[in-house]
Amino acid sequence: MEVRDVARTMTRGADAIQFRTSAWIDGAFVAAQDGRTYTSENPATGAPLVEVALCGAADVDRAVAAARRSFETGVWSDLSPSERKRTLLRFADLIDANREELAITETLDSGKPIVDVRALDIPDTAATIRWHAEAIDKLYGQVAPTGPSAVAMIVREPAGVVGAVIPWNYPALMAAWKLGPALATGNSVVIKPAGQTALSLLRMAELAGEAGLPPGVLNVVPGPGEVVGAAIARHPDIDVVAFTGSTEIGRRFLHHSADSNLKRVVLELGGKSPQVVMADAPPLDQIAPKILDAIFWNMGENCSAGSRLIVHRSRQAELVERLVAAATEDWRVGDPMDDETRIGPLVTRGHLERVLGYIEAGRQDGARLVAGGRRVLEGTGGHYLAPTIFDDATNQMRIAREEIFGPVLTVIPFDTEAEAIAIANDTPYGLAASVYTENLRVAHRMARALRAGTVGVNAYSEGDLSTPFGGYKQSGFGGHDKSIHAHDQYTELKTIWIDMTGHES
Ligand code: NAD
Repeated sequence: MEVRDVARTMTRGADAIQFRTSAWIDGAFVAAQDGRTYTSENPATGAPLVEVALCGAADVDRAVAAARRSFETGVWSDLSPSERKRTLLRFADLIDANREELAITETLDSGKPIVDVRALDIPDTAATIRWHAEAIDKLYGQVAPTGPSAVAMIVREPAGVVGAVIPWNYPALMAAWKLGPALATGNSVVIKPAGQTALSLLRMAELAGEAGLPPGVLNVVPGPGEVVGAAIARHPDIDVVAFTGSTEIGRRFLHHSADSNLKRVVLELGGKSPQVVMADAPPLDQIAPKILDAIFWNMGENCSAGSRLIVHRSRQAELVERLVAAATEDWRVGDPMDDETRIGPLVTRGHLERVLGYIEAGRQDGARLVAGGRRVLEGTGGHYLAPTIFDDATNQMRIAREEIFGPVLTVIPFDTEAEAIAIANDTPYGLAASVYTENLRVAHRMARALRAGTVGVNAYSEGDLSTPFGGYKQSGFGGHDKSIHAHDQYTELKTIWIDMTGHES
């Protein structure tokens, strides 16, 4: 696509939408207490999109007070699970009913290709809320095996006020991964979107209100991480804080908890995930598209991106040749509002520069650049990067060790199965991994040996809503989104012991 065509289509849709830009506290949109705002940009053009409330610690206090009040009055926490389910199902239905508006909002705010947002992000957001809502009235407590002298019930109760801090790469979906289980289990929530991408969540909060979620049960406080995020992390009246973001920032939440009220901290963090292609992998024309999906999907701005391709030397040359051809032919870079686009802009200029810095480091460390490696469509003002592949890298290079969070694939050859496992596991991260092999025994051996929260066999997969998603090592800290396991994070386990002795009639 020509630059001028990009410029023509990239703002399409914005005029039709009335963005929600204020904080959502106690069931209403409110300005930041001191009236300040910040400018959110459209990554496709680098131009200002909208002014958003720049909240501060005082706004977090307001939101936590509203959440605490709603929790203690029991307007939500004391409802029966089936009543909570009804409200959350209405919320999911409203997300579906407004999906086109939410999709355009998300694309203009984040630069994610509209085809992906329409097909995946927004439908999955609704599906996530629905899944947890549907689960909640089918869960039973336990009766302990005490004998007749006592009855002991083991029950789960909502933890109270949940704080959540989320990243910009899947703004609506990451919010739903927290809100689904936290609200379904009866908590009240204060959530902070990433500064770059607050708009879809603010609209979702309004839809939750429309669905009948009582005021104060969901509060959205946009603003800078080091102010609003830190205020949530330190707040003495928050019981659990759930964070998704970088390992570097996640670490701080543990300090803040220790320094404040020992709130429970659950962390979903970064990754440097391996895709291992064994000598006996399935035909390369079948697996090449999966390998590229795993690294280029969402511009590589994906915590579980398969950024290290660890390939048996006997398959390396043919596989890399296929990947390079497909990277240029199939992965079209362009305006994210265009249905043909598969790679939109990176989220900010600063992030683009950071990724370009890694590309330079790869060159200097001696990896062989075989695709991309440069900025494109500069005339648009957007933050576009050509999909990039480095071949013949080693696992010691920076491009193999650090999370790049961009469309950059690093190829590392190996000779033996033991070597493949050693390279794959030689990382501080452990979020996801995949192995490609047609040998069942190798598949089982590798799936057990790979130290990651999710291992895909002959696929790069995060599972579905029924499977937990969390990280080993520095990719997580007790955090599991999705599945029934996500509920444990937001509930307390209580024993009720009833003495049955005495008072015989
Ligand atoms: P980030 O850590 O910079 O920011 C995440 C959130 O924390 C944002 O809302 C930000 O405003 C806030 N924040 C920033 N500084 C803070 C501070 N000092 N105190 C409190 N909060 C603060 O991450 P990002 O750049 O938004 O997102 C990319 C990262 O998220 C990557 O590392 C990626 O791997 C990770 N991620 C992980 C998962 C997962 O499920 N494991 C999913 C998506 C993204």
